[in-house]
Amino acid sequence: MAGIYVHIPFCRSRCIYCDFFSTTLPPTWQEPYVEAIGRELELRAPKAISSLYIGGGTPSLLAPEVLHRLFSLIERHVPLAPDTEVTIEANPDDVTPTWIETLRETPVNRISMGVQSLDDNILRTLRRRHTADKARQAVSLIQEAGYVNLSLDLIYGLPGQTLQQFSHDVRELLSLGIPHLSAYALQFEPDTPLSQMKERGEVGEADEELSLACYESLLDLTAKAGFEHYEISNFALPGFRSRHNSSYWTGVPYIGLGAGAHSYDGVSTRSYNVEDISRYIQSLSHGTLPSYAEHLSEEELYNERVMLSLRTSEGLSLSSLLRDFGPQRHAYCLRMAQPHILGGRLKKTGETLCLTRSGLFVSDDIISDMII
Ligand code: SF4
Repeated sequence: MAGIYVHIPFCRSRCIYCDFFSTTLPPTWQEPYVEAIGRELELRAPKAISSLYIGGGTPSLLAPEVLHRLFSLIERHVPLAPDTEVTIEANPDDVTPTWIETLRETPVNRISMGVQSLDDNILRTLRRRHTADKARQAVSLIQEAGYVNLSLDLIYGLPGQTLQQFSHDVRELLSLGIPHLSAYALQFEPDTPLSQMKERGEVGEADEELSLACYESLLDLTAKAGFEHYEISNFALPGFRSRHNSSYWTGVPYIGLGAGAHSYDGVSTRSYNVEDISRYIQSLSHGTLPSYAEHLSEEELYNERVMLSLRTSEGLSLSSLLRDFGPQRHAYCLRMAQPHILGGRLKKTGETLCLTRSGLFVSDDIISDMII
């Protein structure tokens, strides 16, 4: 078993670009929700884990006693070895000395914080709760408290963002002495307020050239700072890759607890929990898992393998592809890869296919050519 993901679907307010399952329900829902997570854990009964990830939503909104209860329920069912990676996501606005004190009493050893931008106008447009200064203070508080393993998130392609601004943000975050950075291109997800603003002509998608220039700058600045580019959107100093996220990209089994979370058995079955807090709690109070399972076809499994592996710096292992999917799929993969190898966008080293730097910029096109 690789890891457990716990989804905390509570946010104080909703950011305009977000399509994650989260609600603005009042704090009274926290306690019954966490009790339901304990019941789900009992039913799913993991044996041992290598990582635990408390994500959301906004887990830093949990009241101290609820956070403690969550960890006591988890530790009752699954032992956390001292080297287990235990991550919690935080909103900079929630990072206070009191929150840090609470955290010290838990097994958390890694914090992931959504900074997104260091421009207050952009943060306001996105309806993020925090300001750039608040994010800077949160980083200081976390580091002063001795938490070294800190990951920050940035977004590029934001409305009103320039290359200079984005590069400045990357430089500043790297100068803070963090060991992990994730940076994502803004997506206009259907039915989000951001997409509606786009339909009304109030915001536009960033020009492709600008997004590529931002990504290029990100690659250069992180490399200069000694970061390994280990996944398309993820950069880490040696020894600080996210163990939890890496397991998603390598097809290891995981358990997702909480409303809207999903689990994977590591073979071919994925199960999805309902995206409804009240149904989630109710179902577990009757001892029933609030989920439905999906059996992935051989074709879907092949596509996932290609998509996820090519995103990583380890690349796609052709020998594993042959072993798991047979000579026909292996030959198909090589045939589709060939034009990209000749064009310098993919590199074949022994039995491994990896994106080259020029391939990283058109990774979606390459992957879509290589899947079925
Ligand atoms: S805080 Fe995170 S989960 Fe909540 S709405 Fe904003 S981006 Fe989505």
